[in-house]
Amino acid sequence: MTKTVHHWIGGKTVEGTSGNWGPVTDPATGAVTTQVALASVDEVDAAVAAAKDAFATWGTSSLAQRTTILFKFRALLDANRDAIAELIVAEHGKVHSDALGEVARGLEIVDLACGITTQLKGELSTQVSNRVDVASIRQPVGVVAGITPFNFPAMVPMWMFPIAIATGNTFILKPSEKDPSPSLKIAELLAEAGLPDGVFNVLHGDKVAVDRLLEHPDVSAISFVGSTPIARYIHTTASANGKRVQALGGAKNHMLVLPDADLDAAADAAVSAAYGSAGERCMAISAVVAVGSVGDELVQKIRERAEKIKIGPGTDPTSEMGPLITAVHRDKVASYVHGAAAEGCEVVLDGTGYTVEGHENGHWIGLSLLDHVPTSAKAYQDEIFGPVLCVLRAETYEEGLALINASPFGNGTAIFTRDGGAARRFQLEVEAGMVGVNVPIPVPVGYHSFGGWKDSLFGDHHIYGNDGVHFYTRGKVVTTRWPDPSEAPAGVDLGFPRNH
Ligand code: NAD
Repeated sequence: MTKTVHHWIGGKTVEGTSGNWGPVTDPATGAVTTQVALASVDEVDAAVAAAKDAFATWGTSSLAQRTTILFKFRALLDANRDAIAELIVAEHGKVHSDALGEVARGLEIVDLACGITTQLKGELSTQVSNRVDVASIRQPVGVVAGITPFNFPAMVPMWMFPIAIATGNTFILKPSEKDPSPSLKIAELLAEAGLPDGVFNVLHGDKVAVDRLLEHPDVSAISFVGSTPIARYIHTTASANGKRVQALGGAKNHMLVLPDADLDAAADAAVSAAYGSAGERCMAISAVVAVGSVGDELVQKIRERAEKIKIGPGTDPTSEMGPLITAVHRDKVASYVHGAAAEGCEVVLDGTGYTVEGHENGHWIGLSLLDHVPTSAKAYQDEIFGPVLCVLRAETYEEGLALINASPFGNGTAIFTRDGGAARRFQLEVEAGMVGVNVPIPVPVGYHSFGGWKDSLFGDHHIYGNDGVHFYTRGKVVTTRWPDPSEAPAGVDLGFPRNH
């Protein structure tokens, strides 16, 4: 028996009526476990109408009311970490401990939203001119939508909605149709925390739903996280329709290893960051650039570690790496490894053809390691989004930096070195939005913002942190004069007002 997943609109489950359904598989078994309703244009319109109605009161609700609900939600989220992680494992396939990690990082943004009172304090300048004061305030933008990818079904929505609703907006989440259940659990917890109906809605769907959100006149802003081609499309389309938009795209994250680095630490970091979540992370390290003479030793150390990784179902506490999201994706990842030798790569580890006993229909693939990868190889140029690590060689720091900066992507990057001066140069010279110094996955904490450069982000705002607060609010500046009753009126003056 497959279960069905429906929409959450206006504070309750709303059955899908479009007649269109999307299959959700358990990646560890390959079995279709769930059918998710895919919204029609009319269903999108119903969700937007519910969010618009709710905005009429939520947009002017007190900060005390909002933060009281958010603190309750935080406690419920904390108590339900395991339940959410189980849903992630069942539909995404990542291992349970990794799923708990994504819930923890999402919770950080809820923490930030609980303290929104500080972020929304505004600014006041008194007596800027005679008896004139100026206040800068920020107000919500209205109904906002978030369109999210499959690889973090709990964390990425939490990059968006806690700040959106804390700042007074109402929210429509369009999660990935590949793993839709965690978002519904979150909706239930928000309702239990006392969030008024319609403030947070979940609309399942595909391109039909997304396109309607992008054009709907009552949607003011779009947050998107996903692949680069779709991010570019979302940014172009939503902007053309007059919406505020932030669209985070794909990545090819490089790790530069200088000759003076601690090679054991660098190899540990490369293996953890390349193969964690089977490489299905936008901050995964997918290219190591070995500088000078360290290449051979580093590749050997990576290989030794990679060979020990235990692959298995995410429900098995001894598994370190789970399956890929779909069989189609698994086959695409394998095709990069199959084509690598012909493109001039040295295939050190070939993880294709891997299977797990008792789970033969799961979307398995083992770990692959490609060395001496030329920049012309497709395995280097494309975002593979699987457990395939490319190692490139560079003679000098400058050559390695130039290689990284020539990439069209600029999400995260890292340098491994003991040389503070080189690390400082790298921070300033590398063209990427997030930089790690001896830190392979430099995902910023909640009170800093997350975002890449170049083809990894379209729009002016990074996500969460101060940028998130700015994205979900509009600035307003109020200039006030209260006349002194003892003074005569200033009289008519057609000159441009000056401060004195
Ligand atoms: P995706 O682009 O295929 O899908 C993302 C969302 O867009 C989903 O909700 C999907 O339903 C929707 N969508 C897909 N095709 C569409 C279309 N033609 N028109 C309108 N909407 C469409 O991405 P994915 O495969 O779910 O996720 C993996 C990608 O996301 C990777 O490229 C990864 O790097 C990226 N990602 C980026 C970040 C970041 O912060 N930059 C974070 C996580 C994931």
